[in-house]
Amino acid sequence: MANDTGRFQAIISHCKEYGFIFPSSEIYDGLSAVYDYGQYGSELKKNIKDHWWKSMTQLHENIVGIDAAIFMHPTTWKASGHVDGFSDPMIDNKDSKKRYRVDHLIEARIDELEKANKMGEASELQEKMDRLLAAGDLAGLKQLIEDEDIICGISGTSNWTDVREFNLMFSTQLGSVTEEASEIYLRPETAQGIFVNFLNVQKTGRMKIPFGIAQIGKAFRNEIVARQFIFRMREFEQMEMQFFIRPGTEKQWYEYWKEARMKWHFELGIPKEKSRFHDHVKLAFYADAACDIEYDFPFGFKEVEGIHSRTNHDLSRHQEFSKKKMQYFDNEINQNYIPYVIETSIGLDRTVLMVLSEAYWEEDLSTPEKPDSRVVLKFPPRLAPIKLAILPLTKKDGLPEIARELMETCKPQFRCFYEEKDAIGKRYRRMDAIGTPFCVTIDHQTREDQTVTIRHRDSMQQERVAISAIPGIVNKAIF
Ligand code: ATP
Repeated sequence: MANDTGRFQAIISHCKEYGFIFPSSEIYDGLSAVYDYGQYGSELKKNIKDHWWKSMTQLHENIVGIDAAIFMHPTTWKASGHVDGFSDPMIDNKDSKKRYRVDHLIEARIDELEKANKMGEASELQEKMDRLLAAGDLAGLKQLIEDEDIICGISGTSNWTDVREFNLMFSTQLGSVTEEASEIYLRPETAQGIFVNFLNVQKTGRMKIPFGIAQIGKAFRNEIVARQFIFRMREFEQMEMQFFIRPGTEKQWYEYWKEARMKWHFELGIPKEKSRFHDHVKLAFYADAACDIEYDFPFGFKEVEGIHSRTNHDLSRHQEFSKKKMQYFDNEINQNYIPYVIETSIGLDRTVLMVLSEAYWEEDLSTPEKPDSRVVLKFPPRLAPIKLAILPLTKKDGLPEIARELMETCKPQFRCFYEEKDAIGKRYRRMDAIGTPFCVTIDHQTREDQTVTIRHRDSMQQERVAISAIPGIVNKAIF
């Protein structure tokens, strides 16, 4: 197996070569930090999305889903704090003209110190940075960069500008005539679409607290330093759920959702030792508790999902700005209150990258006689883009007809792939490379006794079973 950097590069190349993820508008040399999902990537993404949607809405009787618009009234973003506070401190190197996120620059130095086993200095620097970031002390951050002699990786100089805040929201104009047009934003998160619909859903759905509203949708952030493939994009998808609760029950529900969400990560095939909670040390002023679920990507442990106990901050702010009462009458205790909220917020694209990183294997299959290897994506079967490949051994002798018949039986039930071309070994390898859990080969014996060979992706074991058993075997594995 290649080292971690090599492994990450290999995953990116594999994604492109096998139709999972392409750079956006590649014929025009791509667009930075924007990606398109190809024929297999879009299936994988959809399967992850469906799994999340089902686990949230179908399996929780008190959670419903919505699909709010990307454009929202501009006041939404004033109420949510994004207009004033959704920014990152940045610094430019005057020689290379390269712009950096200040925290990334300092974190790179912390990594260096840790690698050099200078743990004390590393944690001291981390503390200093956290303190300055929390205080919004931009001059202090610049001083810290200078004190640490941090240089630009491109120019090699420390000729820095002052530190400035950059808002991450994209804005555009609503309306066709410039004078009439008003500035609106592309939403930087899906959560606000849930908060502004709290009353609509609660009333029309006759929802009783505790209840949740879930949503999957696009979000946009003008990330200044976009890197690491689909880990940090400018256009991405989020899967968010706001769980509305009675004040005073937030500790209990926060613990419930931490456990439920971690369990969901394990269902994606993530091993326990590669997932961890990271508690936020510094909380937003309104927050009661917050943590991230991190995954050990080829570039280290990084956030995939956030779980936040947000008190009644968001609904209170919308009540204040909209002058509409965001209250709920709890008839069990005969009281009106603005509900508290536990939020779970996961990036769909980051989850795709997590699943791909976990699934990607390079295997050496060499024998003393002959060198051999394969790349295999060991997806949990329910997430695999294609569930079953149907492969007649030859193009003649009636084998394609039998294979086609199996295809017709299976394709309404799950995603199948039919192929007659090339030697069977080659076809198996192609299916391994896109993570198809089962391949069925129809051969001459099938004509005699209606049995086929089913090949299991991970073990490469083959067994002879009745052709009629195939749909059942696949359905059992993908449920
Ligand atoms: P980060 O610290 O990595 O910038 P964040 O804490 O700002 O992330 P949240 O605002 O909590 O992220 O968003 C919830 C989730 O949305 C994140 O856990 C992540 O999975 C996803 N996400 C956020 N920003 C991006 C991005 N630019 N590209 C892809 N996914 C993202």
